[in-house]
Amino acid sequence: RAKAAGGNRFALADAAADARAITRHGLTTALPTALDRGEFFIEYQPLVHLGDGTVHGAEALVRWCHPQHGVLGPDRFIPLAEHTGLIVPLGRWVLEESVRQANFWQERHTDGGPLRINVNLSPTQLHHPGLVAETVDVLERSGLEPGALCLEVTESALIGADDDLLKPLRQLAEMGVDIALDDFGTGYSNLANLRRLPVSVLKLDRSFTQGMQQHPADPVDLKIVEGIVALAHSLDLAVTVEGVETGAQAEQLRRIGCDTAQGWYYARPGAPDRIHSLLLADAV
Ligand code: C2E
Ligand code: MG
Ligand code: MG
Ligand code: MG
Repeated sequence: RAKAAGGNRFALADAAADARAITRHGLTTALPTALDRGEFFIEYQPLVHLGDGTVHGAEALVRWCHPQHGVLGPDRFIPLAEHTGLIVPLGRWVLEESVRQANFWQERHTDGGPLRINVNLSPTQLHHPGLVAETVDVLERSGLEPGALCLEVTESALIGADDDLLKPLRQLAEMGVDIALDDFGTGYSNLANLRRLPVSVLKLDRSFTQGMQQHPADPVDLKIVEGIVALAHSLDLAVTVEGVETGAQAEQLRRIGCDTAQGWYYARPGAPDRIHSLLLADAV
């Protein structure tokens, strides 16, 4: 295709690739100081009980307010931070900040039962030897009970994981921290393998919920999700669905028996105040 497109387009494509490489390089060099300068911030997206629409918790999603490029989503810089190792201090900051925030909500809404905070962990953080001690430290200093924290690890990060990698997750799980398998269904893990992992929540990837946007829902997607939910429940795992964008999807997923949901239908990720007002309002 490139050849048929001729020399000019080729040059244009090269220029675009160069521009991307330059931006990537610029972002990579700017990353370490960005943390010191306080350029990162966290948006929170509510997790909702499908049964009654009450708020179950929130997922912390990091953003970078770059002085030249504006607000950048995690897909733009998390891979770079992973590559350079900055993900360790950045991840520590996200954990500390969101646990502090969760504790603040908790103290103001004691009647609503424990509010959960979900924090994403990348593979490098999993391999970092300080993970367990730092998490314990953050929880102790904040006063949040371990059971209110859920760490999300992608299915692909745990594929082929050996005992060394699973040990810190097991320790955290024994303390009462929930471990969720994020983007479930996009990897190629053996379902039987689930029994070996110290996870208590499956987060079903957005690609499955997408098939339910049509009316009526794609029958094959429906069957697959029904099967996953049945399997998860038989293993005592809770099921959260990502990417719920319509009321019809939410209703379908509730009927299938999914436990909690997250998506634009309820709320886009936003400032912490948003969660605060949702909690005051009692339901989304
Ligand atoms: P994720 O953990 O699977 O997070 C869900 C993503 O789906 C978020 O994208 C969220 O904004 C988006 N989303 C939520 N509801 C909907 C919906 O209804 N429709 C659609 N189309 N999208 C929806 P976001 O914020 O861009 O984050 C992307 C990924 O970056 C996250 O995927 C997570 O893997 C990673 N990430 C975010 N924050 C952190 C962090 O603090 N540390 C690490 N290691 N990774 C993070
Ligand atoms: Mg996540
Ligand atoms: Mg996810
Ligand atoms: Mg996802």
